Amino acid sequence: MTHPLLHTTLKENFGFDKFRPHQAEIISDVLAGLDTLAIMATGGGKSICFQLPALLLPGITIILSPLIALMKDQVDSLKANGIAACYLNSSQTDEERAILIDKIQAQTIKLVYVAPESLTILDPLFSSLNVSLIAIDEAHCISSWGHDFRPAYTNLGYLKNRLPSVPILALTATADKATRRDIAKQLNLKQPKIYISSFDRKNLSLEVRPALDRVKQIIEFIKDKPNASGIIYCLSRKTTEELAEKLQQLGIAAKAYHAGLDADVRSQTQDEFINDECQIVCATIAFGMGIDKSNVRWVIHYNLPKNIEGYYQEIGRAGRDGLPSETILFESYGDLIQLQKFASQGLNAELQLAKLDRMKQYADALSCRRKILLSYFGELVTSNCGNCDICKNPPSFFDGTIIAQKALSAIKRLKESEPLPVIIDFLRGSKNAYIFEKEYQNLKTYGVGTSISWYDWNQYLIQLINLGYCEIAFHQQNKIRLTSLATKVLFENEKVQLTAVQRPKTESAPAVSK
Ligand code: ADP
Ligand code: ZN
Repeated sequence: MTHPLLHTTLKENFGFDKFRPHQAEIISDVLAGLDTLAIMATGGGKSICFQLPALLLPGITIILSPLIALMKDQVDSLKANGIAACYLNSSQTDEERAILIDKIQAQTIKLVYVAPESLTILDPLFSSLNVSLIAIDEAHCISSWGHDFRPAYTNLGYLKNRLPSVPILALTATADKATRRDIAKQLNLKQPKIYISSFDRKNLSLEVRPALDRVKQIIEFIKDKPNASGIIYCLSRKTTEELAEKLQQLGIAAKAYHAGLDADVRSQTQDEFINDECQIVCATIAFGMGIDKSNVRWVIHYNLPKNIEGYYQEIGRAGRDGLPSETILFESYGDLIQLQKFASQGLNAELQLAKLDRMKQYADALSCRRKILLSYFGELVTSNCGNCDICKNPPSFFDGTIIAQKALSAIKRLKESEPLPVIIDFLRGSKNAYIFEKEYQNLKTYGVGTSISWYDWNQYLIQLINLGYCEIAFHQQNKIRLTSLATKVLFENEKVQLTAVQRPKTESAPAVSK
């Protein structure tokens, strides 16, 4: 049952007439005291989901948030709406914090934003404070499976033990299925209700281009949109500076932004961008989290992103006002090699490599890119989007039903427990040691695909993954599993359109992980 004051509070305190998808349900669950996990695209309206309950609940709401800059903005805008809010983080002096803590204890504050590092300040007060709700923003930061793991988040699991009767609302814009489960587990959520809003942002066009003469292509691209705000994401700090300089030399209002610049310089660039004084920001991924600028008209990825979550979040900064906006990703083999190297040296190397592989598959895709993105986030869609380069300029399709049937039944015969290379070997009737050791040569479907080359099978299987018929279980040795869509092909004779494999032109780009 919805709370009687839900709509009036939305209107009176926030000035909105109606809820966006899932907001009302999430708020109702939170008010009912349930643990909740809300996955909503950037700009989807997550903040209301804890700000509104905070006003209706008797005690205070604590919001864990990783970014100090973002906290200040949120608190300022709440105060502007007449809502008592404050934040606690390392940017404040002990005295400033002492004053705030007095106010919190006096219960004159409804919302307290805290950086996870500063949570210890509140800890001794928990027993005396009347805490009604704990919201954990950017909750994917708790999971080392996510793309933005922050060690300071790892301890947040203790909150549930410390305050077992206080509901927790975890919010994030990006989490694949496994990361979602991990968030719930790490935070000790009790049978959380999970809300996943559609990730579809129809107003964003999607395009991938080969990274040849990138600077020239960018200049061409921005030439006919002189006043449109845009972000160019680069892999290295050096590239952001070099690119900004090249654009400045052409009289374009561009600036570089990366974590190595002074805080003043960064916040000035951010302000200028928000106020339309600086047209283009050439940035590392340090730029953008929490920036609420609605009229970003385009986002370019100068380099291949590390994973689809990051990519989707970054392009999602364009077109928050819902107007048509463009995104371009430059794909280069050199970037891929470099990213592979980073990934293999970092935390969770195998997983990060698999995610990178998925990113590459997206870039190489021959079917609707939006379908691929959405299926990555667990949304199964059947129609093509019409607003990506593939839809606009389709490669040649053929009836791939038999190929799909062979591949999907091979996956089934192998009990959905083998990674891509084994499936291909199995289809091609390979006589390698692993196949014999597992006695796979005795199973049906073994060798039904000898007439198709290894390379082509790889492409077809990637297409089937991209089409959502099967998926890669990243957290289980990259096993290939079937999705519910596969049943239609296997048992209901659904037709599958595949795309003719295009041969690599000059240098061949092998799959990332074998
Ligand atoms: P997120 O944190 O999910 O990226 P925000 O909470 O910052 O998104 O909301 C994005 C924008 O949408 C903000 O400008 C916010 O004021 C606006 N917004 C949120 N909910 C609604 C609503 N129900 N109706 C209209 N605008 C809304
Ligand atoms: Zn499309």
